[in-house]
Amino acid sequence: MHTCVTLEPQMETELMNGLQGLFEDPFVEPEEVNEWMDSFFLTRISIQTLIMQHTAMVRQKPSIVRNCNVSGVVRKVINDVTSFASDVYSDVPEIEMTSTPNNIVTPYISSYLHYVITELLKNSIVAHVTSERSETPVEVRVVDGETATTIKISDQGAGFPIDKLPQMMYFGFSSDPVEICEEIELAGLPIFSGFGYGLPMARLYIKYLGGSLRILPVENLGADVYVYIPKTKALTESF
Ligand code: ADP
Ligand code: MG
Repeated sequence: MHTCVTLEPQMETELMNGLQGLFEDPFVEPEEVNEWMDSFFLTRISIQTLIMQHTAMVRQKPSIVRNCNVSGVVRKVINDVTSFASDVYSDVPEIEMTSTPNNIVTPYISSYLHYVITELLKNSIVAHVTSERSETPVEVRVVDGETATTIKISDQGAGFPIDKLPQMMYFGFSSDPVEICEEIELAGLPIFSGFGYGLPMARLYIKYLGGSLRILPVENLGADVYVYIPKTKALTESF
């Protein structure tokens, strides 16, 4: 069972409205706002980690940092995301995965990894659906190395120009922002994308545990996303 690490939907909407107002202000530098959001959310992740660990200890459950089967988590996310996407889109690309070796185990917080891979795969699915390439599969490769375990996600959506990368990483930036109307709220319809929190939050969760997330977009060809999880015996916080 995965502890929920996503933002509360109401908080996402409120933050997004606030940020949109800020970004429209010509006297506000988006980089500065983003730096502030980075440190705000890193602190939040840190407190969340402490609370989760404390709760696990009090309930005499194992530590939240334990041997995490990276390949298993990725397989589970593929199932979960594919099923969620089928509720939203009529034509969903397949997600093909290979893992070398078949099960890669390393100390990690599996709920954080689950969240990160979910956000990245959602983006790849959206990229395939919106560019009408749903018949082409998204590819995921998980590879073990001496210094890191790497997860590579390759899609063949429309990609985007590489000079737009910093903007794509901004909190609250989405190329297709969601309009929360009463209809959506009342019907409780699933929202797959549009808050602009997926990439920046995914990057922070990976950074927090000492890893890194890299994106290589190619216009009209797709995007390759690399998640590096460092191989260490003891995980430490990284700010
Ligand atoms: P959201 O998915 O809510 O729009 P994200 O933070 O996940 O927000 O992504 C920000 C933006 O980056 C997206 O709106 C999209 O334009 C772009 N993006 C992210 N991943 C991909 C991808 N794999 N292919 C093409 N564009 C992408
Ligand atoms: Mg997204």
